[in-house]
Amino acid sequence: MQYTGKCLIFSAPSGAGKTTIVRALLERFDEISFSVSAASRAPRPNEVNGVDYHFYSVEEFKQLIKKDAFVEWEEVYTDHYYGTLKSEVERIWKEGKVVIFDVDVYGGINLKKFFGDQALSIFVMPPTIDALEQRLRRRSTETEVRIQTRLKKAAEELQLHNQFDKIVVNDELDTAIVEASRLAQDFIHP
Ligand code: ADP
Ligand code: 5GP
Repeated sequence: MQYTGKCLIFSAPSGAGKTTIVRALLERFDEISFSVSAASRAPRPNEVNGVDYHFYSVEEFKQLIKKDAFVEWEEVYTDHYYGTLKSEVERIWKEGKVVIFDVDVYGGINLKKFFGDQALSIFVMPPTIDALEQRLRRRSTETEVRIQTRLKKAAEELQLHNQFDKIVVNDELDTAIVEASRLAQDFIHP
């Protein structure tokens, strides 16, 4: 990696609220910039290519793996590949900013291993599995089958919370955002 800097890693089971919290931090901190991941799934109606993800076909994604374009990548769900692009981290550090990642739990653990003390890894904990299910349903972005896959995976992922530096419980959203902001502030400006 050509430049060096800091990074904030946010991970959680799907539906716990990490994207919501990451967006709130991006609004509050000018010095933080979002690492746009590569993904091989179709964009959701509100998603913009290059803003939410860099969208690729499965074949294109596999070519990027061959070219060693990723810091880490995962097949999070069957044929749904996601990966952190080295070019994104370099672009953001070159601007002198702190990178923020919104990645799955295994990706978060791998990024922390890779970046070590340069990174603060935060696990966003849903108050209960029932709340997680309700949030996934209310978001209305997944089919029933995909909701069930995500819930099954969530039970596994929740066991891994102790591999993160910090935990933010996302029960009341405002409280979680205040807590995440405090952690970010302390890490960026110790
Ligand atoms: P993730 O990125 O972890 O998959 P999202 O940020 O997309 O999760 O949140 C999942 C859904 O839950 C969204 O519709 C979001 O608006 C909602 N949500 C987030 N935080 C809370 C909360 N504290 N209470 C209730 N709903 C929430
Ligand atoms: P979604 O399809 O809901 O946008 O994302 C599915 C999961 O993939 C989420 O947990 C999301 O955080 C994760 N994800 C997004 N980008 C990356 C990435 O670059 N690497 C990894 N490992 N997971 C990612």
